[in-house]
Amino acid sequence: METPTDIKARTSDCTLRVTWQSGHDSSYAFKYLRCHCGCANCVDESTGIRTLNPDDVPGAISIENMSLVGNYAVQFRWSDGHTTGIYSWDYLLRLCPCDECGGPKPFDRRLSPLGTK
Ligand SMILES: [Zn+2]
Ligand SMILES: [Zn+2]
Repeated sequence: METPTDIKARTSDCTLRVTWQSGHDSSYAFKYLRCHCGCANCVDESTGIRTLNPDDVPGAISIENMSLVGNYAVQFRWSDGHTTGIYSWDYLLRLCPCDECGGPKPFDRRLSPLGTK
């Protein structure tokens, strides 16, 4: 499994930069990441449908703290007080918005989010 060698939350341009073992670099806007949260507060567990409305996420959202979860994921403390989202390496890689990875993944409330099942 691909794992990050470096993760940095840069408040200067509101992006999370992840460098992967393969040498691939991903950079995620904070809001993009926050909107793709797959936790039980953001996604209905029984239907798999996203309940989080991106319009409710502040544009100036930022990461106040992050901690590793085991060796497979990272958890963020967002400035809107949200702390329950866990982003596995696999999920982060699939969210990578670079051209090589197919561009930003669409945010659609009617669709199940990526990688929760
Ligand atoms: Zn969440
Ligand atoms: Zn990429």
